[in-house]
Amino acid sequence: MTDMRRFLVAGNWKMNGYEARNRELCDGILAGLAAAEDVDVLVCPPYPFLASVNGLVRDSRVRLGAQNVSEHESGAYTGEVSAAMLKDVGCTYVIVGHSERRTLFGETDDQVAAKFRAALDADLTPILCVGETLEEREAMETEAVISRQIAAVVAATGIDAFASAVIAYEPVWAIGTGLVATPEQAQDVHNHIRGLLAAENADVAAGVQILYGGSMKGDNASGLLGMPDIDGGLIGGASLKSADFLAIVEAAAGL
Ligand code: PEP
Repeated sequence: MTDMRRFLVAGNWKMNGYEARNRELCDGILAGLAAAEDVDVLVCPPYPFLASVNGLVRDSRVRLGAQNVSEHESGAYTGEVSAAMLKDVGCTYVIVGHSERRTLFGETDDQVAAKFRAALDADLTPILCVGETLEEREAMETEAVISRQIAAVVAATGIDAFASAVIAYEPVWAIGTGLVATPEQAQDVHNHIRGLLAAENADVAAGVQILYGGSMKGDNASGLLGMPDIDGGLIGGASLKSADFLAIVEAAAGL
């Protein structure tokens, strides 16, 4: 991170939680936040809990985000949730293009770009996830894959849109596996991403927060967050227990 960007630590709860457990988790996070004032903190619960979690965090500096959004505005899209609806229940962020959405639900680069645009149109900050599979890394295709994923969004929205967005680099092989990219591996890709944006607009590139995601925990967070182009974390497993999540927030605060 540099002085011009703040750290953002974001919890992606995935398909986990229920009301009582969410309350316990949020209470724990809120109780431990005072020591980390300079770090932005975000929780992304499943859709049904957005309104109740908003009630738990809205008087605090913990922000609320969703894990997915429809690319459509409204109408006959059974089962879908629009960006305006997310805004209406208190969200300020939404994750788009998580690798689980891309691989398990077939989301394409173009669809992810449309979701990114839908989020911005509703005044939500999209967190655009990009990342390579193990196969792609072994085939030395990491930079090409990331470039393709970012280019699809730049083509759809223009570079200036990234002034109001966050990017998360999440190597697919590190998500939920316990395998973690080394700080140097992650920094190389973050630097590549910032370079791609800088080729279009240096100011936008310098300001955009680029998070790392993939088995980040309290004991590996400082090494990753200490790298110059890593501005926070998108946290899956370790976001489900307040002590684990706070350990990452505290690591960011200590840098
Ligand atoms: C994620 O799914 O965004 C993630 C990073 O998960 P985990 O921290 O469990 O690897």
